[in-house]
Amino acid sequence: MHFEDLDLDAAILEGIKALGYQKPTTIQQQAIPVALDGRDLLASAPTGTGKTAAYLLPALQHLIDFPRKKPGFARVLIMTPTRELAYQTYEQAKSLAQFTELSLGVITGGINYGSHHEVLNKNNDLLIATPGRLMEYLENETFNPLDVELLILDEADRMLDMGFLKEMDRIAAETKRRKHTWLYSATLEGASLIKFARQIMPDPAEVYASPPRREKQKIQQWIHLADDYDHKFKLLVHWLKQEETQKSIVFVKTRERLQTLIGQLQSEGLKTCWLQGEMPQHKRNQAIDAFHQNKVSILVATDVAARGIDVDDVTHVINFDMPRKADVYLHRIGRTGRAGKKGNALSLVEAHDMEILSKVERYTDQKLARRVIESLKPKHKAAKVPVKKKKKKVNTATPAKKPKKPKKPKKK
Ligand code: AMP
Repeated sequence: MHFEDLDLDAAILEGIKALGYQKPTTIQQQAIPVALDGRDLLASAPTGTGKTAAYLLPALQHLIDFPRKKPGFARVLIMTPTRELAYQTYEQAKSLAQFTELSLGVITGGINYGSHHEVLNKNNDLLIATPGRLMEYLENETFNPLDVELLILDEADRMLDMGFLKEMDRIAAETKRRKHTWLYSATLEGASLIKFARQIMPDPAEVYASPPRREKQKIQQWIHLADDYDHKFKLLVHWLKQEETQKSIVFVKTRERLQTLIGQLQSEGLKTCWLQGEMPQHKRNQAIDAFHQNKVSILVATDVAARGIDVDDVTHVINFDMPRKADVYLHRIGRTGRAGKKGNALSLVEAHDMEILSKVERYTDQKLARRVIESLKPKHKAAKVPVKKKKKKVNTATPAKKPKKPKKPKKK
C-alpha cells in the first residue's frame, strides 16, 4: 500500500513527501482508512510504530474535508500525557500540514500563560494539549470544548497510569458535540483502559500495529476452501459434529442466511440457538442464557446481533460467511480463547472471499493454515485473489482535491 492509495489530500501528500515517509506503516495502513470512514477507533500501537502520523493524517484530512464555517476554537483536540510528547506531536503535525492552510497550536504546563493566550485566541484548527493545563483553561473558560469535532487521546494507557482518569473523563464529557473519538494506547489489555474506552465509545473499530498477543498465542486459526453454499454447509456440519467442538458460535452475514441455516442444522439433528438484529429483548436473553448455561451448544449469529455477548468457554468460532472487514474478523475470533483457555477459529472461504481473506492475513500479519477434510475436498484448490484494477493516483502537483462523496456526520 502507498500513501497515494489512502484518499488523502494532495497538500497532505506533499507534507508526507517532505518528511521522507516512503510508505505507510502497519498501523497507518490499518487506522487511516477506518478513521476516514468516520468510525471511532481503539488503536493499539506503541511508540515507534508511526502511530502519531496514523492519527494526524486522517485528522488533517477531516479538517480539510469539513472546512470551518466561522472562526473559533480547535476542532481537533489531541491529548497527550507529557509536555515532551505534546511538542513532538506538534512538530510532526506542523511538518505534515505545512502545505495546507490549517492552523495548529500546542498548550502544556511549564509555559507562561501569555503565549497560550495567543494560541487560544486566534483561529485554531488543531490543538495539542496536556491534561493538567487544559483543565485550567476549561475552568476559567479560556478554552471552549464545544467546537471539538474529533477527540484524540494519545498514549491513553500512560495517561491513566499517571492518574489522569478524572481529566480524561471530564474532557470526554465536555467535548459532547464531537463526532469522532480515537483512542491510542500501547496495548489494549488494561482493565481500566477497556472500561474507559467502553464508556466513551459505543462501537469503535479496533486496530493493531501488530496482532494482539492473546489472539496470536491462544487461538488456532485455519480455513477450508469451499466451492459453494452446500459445500460450506457440509464442512460446517462436519465440524459441529466433532467431539472437540463443545461450544461454538457460527457467524453468518445476513438474517435471511441465518434463518436458512438454522433450519438446515435442525434437520441434521443439531440443536441451535440464534441471535439476529431486531430480536425482542426477552428472546435475545433466552438465547444467550441457553447458550451460557450449556443447554444449547451452538449459537448462530450475525455480527450486529452478537455485539456485547460475553461467554467464556466457547471452543470454536466458525465463520460460515467471511466478514466484510478485517477488524470484524478479529472481533469475531476474540470470542474464543478467553479466560486463559485455548480457542479455535475456522473460516469457510469461497472463491469470492479470497480478497477479504488476504486482507485478514495482512491485518493479522499471518497466513492462515489451509486445511482439507479428505471426504470434503474442494474442487478448486487454489482460488486466486481477483486482480484489482489499479487505483487512480492522486496528482500531487494539483493542489485541488478531487471531489469526495460527502460523509454523513455521525450522531453520538
Ligand atoms: P511514532 O510511533 O509516531 O512515535 O513515530 C516514530 C517515528 O517514525 C517518527 O520519527 C515518525 O516521524 C516516523 N514515521 C512515522 N510514519 C512513518 C512512515 N510512514 N515512514 C517512515 N517513518 C515514519
